Amino acid sequence: MMAAKIIDGKEVSNWVKENLKKEVERLKQRGITPSLKIFLVGENPASVVYVGNKEKSSKNVGIDAEVLSYNESVTEEELLNKIKELNNDPKVNGMIVQLPLPSHIDEDRVSLAIAPEKDVDGFHPHNLGMLLRGTPTLLPATPYGVLQLLKYYSIETQGKHVVVVGRSNIVGKPASVIFLLKDKFGNATVTVCHSRSKNLAEYIKQADILIVAVGKHHLITKDMVKKDAVVIDVGIHRVEDPTKKRGYRLEGDVKFDEVKEIASYITPVPGGVGPMTVAMLLQNVVNAAKLQNGITD
Ligand code: NAD
Repeated sequence: MMAAKIIDGKEVSNWVKENLKKEVERLKQRGITPSLKIFLVGENPASVVYVGNKEKSSKNVGIDAEVLSYNESVTEEELLNKIKELNNDPKVNGMIVQLPLPSHIDEDRVSLAIAPEKDVDGFHPHNLGMLLRGTPTLLPATPYGVLQLLKYYSIETQGKHVVVVGRSNIVGKPASVIFLLKDKFGNATVTVCHSRSKNLAEYIKQADILIVAVGKHHLITKDMVKKDAVVIDVGIHRVEDPTKKRGYRLEGDVKFDEVKEIASYITPVPGGVGPMTVAMLLQNVVNAAKLQNGITD
């Protein structure tokens, strides 16, 4: 049997970033330097790594990125005041607040204070509402990355049955709405499954395109997947592995080694959806800068 074609998220994210470099260069020639402010509160080691990655990747494509670091004891008011100030600064195109925040700060209140046009995470109700009504603005980065992977490999979703497993606000739910948009890479028949779905396997078996964002290691096995389905695995898990220097390896929600035998295309973990998330965040910063300056080309 033919094994699946591997969807190479590293290759696609590099392609996105190369294009962004050129786009940023063109914007700079018009006097616009896309700018991103990243809020980091405290020293959560995972957050420090994520923020460092976002800053470095931004700078690599020419985005003017700055990390605003705050002590764990910062007040909510202080953060809100800074966000308000930057909302009114036309030189700032995008803002993100790295979560989690300390428990004395209301994460929702802080995240929602960012002006919708500068919300490059795409989590603001305005941006989610615009997506829902079919006029998308800034898309949440991870499902935007899934869309970009399908586009790169010319995997059209029109008329296909897309099954999304997971209904989180940052992945599953927006992904399901993206594939309903009236577009070649939308126009799908979408089924959304979640923790309370009965007969999960029956729905999954019907998927032409299966998008899994659950957070359960190796939930999806070969027997559940239709032959020649396209399988997109968003899940990320650390699996203990003493043969690795760092003591673990990464695996997904899909049992890759066996599902690749039956799928037509499949994303690996790592190297599939993961690298796309930061690339699409950068794309959103550039999209935001263009929207704010009325640039449509
Ligand atoms: P979440 O915990 O917010 O949501 C999980 C969803 O899965 C829920 O909607 C729940 O209803 C559903 N679910 C739980 N158990 C289920 C089951 N047995 N059957 C069917 N559905 C079930 O998670 P999330 O933030 O959407 O993330 C999902 C996974 O994706 C995690 O492993 C996370 O680490 C990963 N993730 C990766 C990226 C990336 O950049 N690649 C980005 C975000 C999240």
